[in-house]
Amino acid sequence: MNGLYIHVPFCAKKCPYCDFYSQSYRAAAAESYVSAVCRNLRAIPQDVRFDTVYFGGGTPSLLTAAQTDAMLAEVRSRLSPGAEITMEMNPRTMQTEKLMGFKAAGVNRISVGVQSFQPEVLSLLGRNHSPEDAKDAILRAYQCGYENISLDLMLGLFMQDADSLDRDLAEALALPVTHISAYLLKIEAQTPFGKTPPDMLSDDDTAARYLQLHDRLTKAGFSHYEISNFAKPGYESRHNCKYWRCEPYYAVGPAAHGCVGHVRYAVPKDLSAFCAGKLQETYITDENACGREDRIMLGLRLSEGIVPDDALMRRAKPLMPQYLVTENGRLRMTPEGWLVSNSVLAALL
Ligand code: SF4
Repeated sequence: MNGLYIHVPFCAKKCPYCDFYSQSYRAAAAESYVSAVCRNLRAIPQDVRFDTVYFGGGTPSLLTAAQTDAMLAEVRSRLSPGAEITMEMNPRTMQTEKLMGFKAAGVNRISVGVQSFQPEVLSLLGRNHSPEDAKDAILRAYQCGYENISLDLMLGLFMQDADSLDRDLAEALALPVTHISAYLLKIEAQTPFGKTPPDMLSDDDTAARYLQLHDRLTKAGFSHYEISNFAKPGYESRHNCKYWRCEPYYAVGPAAHGCVGHVRYAVPKDLSAFCAGKLQETYITDENACGREDRIMLGLRLSEGIVPDDALMRRAKPLMPQYLVTENGRLRMTPEGWLVSNSVLAALL
């Protein structure tokens, strides 16, 4: 079964660390973008069925419920029963009426960009919401009937000491969330942070925070199922698991990436061209995707790991049991392995 990723390239305000493709939201541009998405969805062969749809961005929740419904209407007859339909949301866009409208359109999983519950961290990250906005938005979503709610946290700023992370996790765990993603802040060259980087945690402190995160969330009943993702049982992101399991997913929208028939492709980062074109242009980024190396690199991001061949086991042995372990015939990384995953993969490959 296939996944479908739709990139929504609009944000209310650009965050200084972010290098995802997005532009300032304009109502007219959003209308023409939605029409272009619908055209492209109609062009995907009708016999292609989807069991996941993911609206990522940008800030997909800047779109209206009617626009979301129009896009989903193009694929509704091709969705398998119980398909997971995720929308990334910014707390400031999660008004009751919109949340109800997205739900009526079919969205059944939301991923909220919280980043932190500490006002000083949010301010340094240039976020346009307060901790209260995020908490209220998640509670509102729950009251609107969403029971599959994920939140994103970001780690890595100098001020994010053990106490700060403890407070963030206590706030997160007090909310009705089923999934938590925790990303390490990466300084991208082409962003304001790339030009004026903030003070960051040392490597040792970052490692300590990562292990603290693992301990606290696993004790709270979340499984650390992917290097940066934690879920209550049964609430792993089905869509994102397709990336790591080398399963096919289609991509629509400027800057979207897809992988179908072992070919990875991308759509140019050009909203005007996307809206003006009859169909989106794409370019191939890898014509031999999902080979042995990909399966090792992506599969070891998951706690389920991979079935190793003999050659891989020979290379894995010296890294066991600190960084790699075997269980039921599968090889997987330990949390300590994930911390240094690039070095572990270099040794394996
Ligand atoms: S972090 Fe999210 S809200 Fe901020 S600019 Fe990037 S996509 Fe937009």
